Amino acid sequence: MHEMSIAEGIVDIALQTLAANKGRVIHAIQLRLGVMSGVEPDALQFCFAAVTKDTAAANATLQIEMVPLRGRCLDCDYEFSVADYVFKCPRCKSIAIQTITGRELQVASIDMD
Ligand SMILES: [Zn+2]
Repeated sequence: MHEMSIAEGIVDIALQTLAANKGRVIHAIQLRLGVMSGVEPDALQFCFAAVTKDTAAANATLQIEMVPLRGRCLDCDYEFSVADYVFKCPRCKSIAIQTITGRELQVASIDMD
């Protein structure tokens, strides 16, 4: 389950930020998670609860914002949302598609005192 190491990474960032700001407690962490990041949100929540135990983030909530999948056609520059993982340009039918969003795994903000 790679969600465990991801959860550890998130908590590391949060605790470092907390220390850098001389804070005491973390209330919430907002995470941007792409639908194609390969991370299972429920599993991540479970791991988050486990790795925050006995830390300054023990009572923190992990707020996950799912980022939809968008692609750009490399042939005609058209941008579109990718449905059902069909990487095909709706305008020119090209399959040369670059993923613009949907792979994010990013701590957006941290609420702390
Ligand atoms: Zn196109």
